[in-house]
Amino acid sequence: MEPVDRATIWPYDERGEPGDFYYSRYASPTVVEAEARLGELDGGEAVLFPSGSAAGTALVLSLLEPGDTIALAAGAYFGTGVIFQALAKWGLRYVEFDQTRPPPDGVQLVWLEAPSNPFLTMPDLEAAVAHPAPVVVDSTVATPIHLRPLEHGADFALHSVTKYLGGHDDTLLGAVVGRDVAELRLFRTRTGISPAPDPAWLLLRGLKTLEVRVRRQTETAIDLAERLRAHPKVVHVRYPGIGGLISFDVADGAAARRVETSTRVVVNATSLGGVTSVMESRHRWEGDRVPTGLLRFSAGLEDPAVLWSDLAQALERA
Ligand code: PLP
Repeated sequence: MEPVDRATIWPYDERGEPGDFYYSRYASPTVVEAEARLGELDGGEAVLFPSGSAAGTALVLSLLEPGDTIALAAGAYFGTGVIFQALAKWGLRYVEFDQTRPPPDGVQLVWLEAPSNPFLTMPDLEAAVAHPAPVVVDSTVATPIHLRPLEHGADFALHSVTKYLGGHDDTLLGAVVGRDVAELRLFRTRTGISPAPDPAWLLLRGLKTLEVRVRRQTETAIDLAERLRAHPKVVHVRYPGIGGLISFDVADGAAARRVETSTRVVVNATSLGGVTSVMESRHRWEGDRVPTGLLRFSAGLEDPAVLWSDLAQALERA
């Protein structure tokens, strides 16, 4: 691995002039290196932020003005709507729409999620990029292995690096990738929503194995989604055919609680995209936005046969 550079300052040159690096809120070598690698992967220029949520906040604050409206994919990560609600007092509005259909007129930003978490719908990218407003695709769950939004005409791809890109449940980080990110970079430096070098270094490490991890997680998820569909205790399965995330419903909230607390290999925890499989009922966080019996499962790298026998024994208690 390349070393991590934790310095916050670097000396000026012999003429007394600043070089590429002088104060880490502006730029630092490990962050710049991680941005270069992620940019190559997504086909644009990457800007890192301390979390996926910070990336989203910085993007809307730098792009929009008070009174502007965002068209947000219904069923997208609930925290994204929470950010927009928190910014309502600054004059930001949002409306939800079905991302499998064209976005509504009269909005200044279109926000898609590919696939949405936890409803796992895929956006109609062609319809969205035909809209006059800029298009952001939160492609955290697809990862650049399955989708490169900029190649489809989107203006920005957004990632919670915390998930698949980091990949080991040990780093909190976010990213925006775009063709023109100069304004966003300036906004980041000015407001200080700058990333630390250690998470950027963990992103560099995660990217080295991203493809093998994501391909294996997708194979496992395809297999498990099919088995879940055939299980008598499972009433509904959502899986878009790509990525390692599945959501499925059992009868009700009590059944979901029994299933999530009965697994022995799959960890009952939040988040997704790590090497360890995790599962949780989403109703505890999202309330009536999701069915009470909805369980979200993120495939790790364990043996799929072991995962299925664990899920099957837990489902007996549903
Ligand atoms: N986008 C998606 C699809 C997510 O699942 C999450 C987190 O769960 C986020 C954004 C927010 O990322 P972070 O937790 O890194 O702030």
